[in-house]
Amino acid sequence: MGKIKVLPDAVANQIAAGEVVERPASVVKELLENSLDAGSTDIRVEIEAGGRRLIRITDNGSGMMRDDAMLAFERHATSKLSSVHDLESIGTLGFRGEALPSIGSVSRLTLETHSRDESSGTRVEISGGKMIKCEDAGLAAGTILTIRDLFFNVPARKKFLRSEQTELAHIASLVTHYSLAHPDKSFELHHGPSELLRVTPVSTALERVFQVFGNRILEDLVEFGPETKSLSTPEGEQKKFSLSGFVSKPHIQKLNRNSIYLFVNGRLIRDKLLLHALTSAYHNLIPPACYPFALLFLDCDFGEVDVNVHPSKTEVRFRHSSFVHDFVRDAVRGKLMESKPVSSLPLPSYQTQPASSLPFSEFTQRIENTAPDYSEMVVPFPDGPPPEPRTLPNFRLDLPAGPPQRFDFNDVPQATMPPARMRIPDTHGPLPPGVASATEMESMGSLGDLRPIGQIHNSFIIAAGRDGLWIIDQHVAHERILFEQVLRQFARREAQQQRLLMPMVMELSVGQHLEYARIAEELARAGFETEPFGNRTIAIQAAPTGLGPGDIEKAIHEILDIAETELRKSSVEDLRRNIAASVACRAAIKINTPLDQQKMDYLLLELAKCEYPMACPHGRPIALRYSTRDILKGFHRI
Ligand code: ADP
Ligand code: MG
Repeated sequence: MGKIKVLPDAVANQIAAGEVVERPASVVKELLENSLDAGSTDIRVEIEAGGRRLIRITDNGSGMMRDDAMLAFERHATSKLSSVHDLESIGTLGFRGEALPSIGSVSRLTLETHSRDESSGTRVEISGGKMIKCEDAGLAAGTILTIRDLFFNVPARKKFLRSEQTELAHIASLVTHYSLAHPDKSFELHHGPSELLRVTPVSTALERVFQVFGNRILEDLVEFGPETKSLSTPEGEQKKFSLSGFVSKPHIQKLNRNSIYLFVNGRLIRDKLLLHALTSAYHNLIPPACYPFALLFLDCDFGEVDVNVHPSKTEVRFRHSSFVHDFVRDAVRGKLMESKPVSSLPLPSYQTQPASSLPFSEFTQRIENTAPDYSEMVVPFPDGPPPEPRTLPNFRLDLPAGPPQRFDFNDVPQATMPPARMRIPDTHGPLPPGVASATEMESMGSLGDLRPIGQIHNSFIIAAGRDGLWIIDQHVAHERILFEQVLRQFARREAQQQRLLMPMVMELSVGQHLEYARIAEELARAGFETEPFGNRTIAIQAAPTGLGPGDIEKAIHEILDIAETELRKSSVEDLRRNIAASVACRAAIKINTPLDQQKMDYLLLELAKCEYPMACPHGRPIALRYSTRDILKGFHRI
């Protein structure tokens, strides 16, 4: 007798549940996706005890006929696929037919459903995978799924659940973000007696963002899209990609990726390729270990993306991955370049703000403190580099180290979670007048009109402008100017060079020497004329103009070190940007340097010409503005 046997369905379902149903939020995700697939326009989620005691989702979708309601709990029973060909272009969120049997095998589940095609509705009860009841029921059209006592028969899994608040925070984050992806539908989320989210249908994503996060967030975001680009395949077909959404201005700098939400054809995913494209768009705009807030919707032909990669359907694979990567990077970067947002000075600290008008950065920080890593729930990214120390208190968003703070949902009345209801009294209304203007960029376009008045500390230029008082960091401003100049020279192969009277001999470490061999050509293109000179030594004959003798060696060391640590896998453009950043940083005017009027005028004029005058290549802000409005407020005139 052989040893192998086919597992009974009940066991197979529990194994599948291990992958599909990790925690209460994964149940909510599967059920939400089912409701959306069923064409629902009104989805209500009720939770008790963080989802352990109860999860109930009520929708007004197609409902199921009686036979389907019973079949839905069979393994791999789905209405969304019929042949293997369908797998090549999946247009629904679900397709594996695994969710209902998996959830049913680890909970007490009741399905109540009524299809408009049948006179009566159906109620099915399942407990730990066994069907207990199936009967007629008078029900409105649509479906109600009630899940009680999740993991009651899987104690091991139950033990791993985090606190009620943590689980709830995951659920809230999930519902919120699905609501952002579907502004034309209503969503509600209730935890026991408290209503955490209620949004009614609106016609634009902008209005939905307003409903969910309030007005202040819009000031920190750049909205864009849809940007489109077509790819011609070798078969002569045109594949259209479109990207729309919101990305934060560079002064929003987060120390983790939790605020990045990526949707591909309406599906919330975690994807390394898209994440990389997004962070590349911010390369040289925010510090390397920081991340933006992003809500991005990428839409493409279903055949262009394989969603059948992971049981929780949170990973995808693109057929033309480098095209998609570059499209997303360029679209986001282009938009950031275009908007040129300026950092405002913080308001004087004595002005306490009501919780309902917290600036987005604080608001999201609070969310992050309480709503732990959503990515954990799906596919965690490997940990990034450790956060940098806090350097610019007003522009860095630092999260407390260690595990997220505990909080009691019912005790914290406002702004601890994304829920609309808590933050905005009227979440039903249209976008009020004035909101649109708040989203208009505070632009650095007016830099050209600034009148430099003098320096503070021989380091910061004070300038009067039409719209307030400006303070410009002379070093980083010059750094940005030189950085863009060097990049342009790279592109045109016309680096400005200075010959050294005596070649400079420089010793390299083993790693640096290997990097040198790899990038020598790019160094030459930047203006460093070098040649190998014996064992791990190079001779430098010429260097980019502007670099002092002491800086040349330092710049080369730095470039080789950066190339060694982070650039092996990245593109030539990234390498060039890093070389340009090193050269610019070394050649720029230092702080503590007195400047005469002419030099200040020159700096501001050149800065105004920059493509991206808001941040230095390391991501630090260049200019702060104290707007006329802030000044009036400060003097209590408004
Ligand atoms: P999948 O979504 O991958 O098809 P599920 O196990 O999640 O698998 O659901 C099985 C089937 O049950 C679906 O294909 C669909 O036909 C039906 N179904 C599930 N939820 C709903 C719902 N809320 N409304 C209508 N039909 C549903
Ligand atoms: Mg499903």
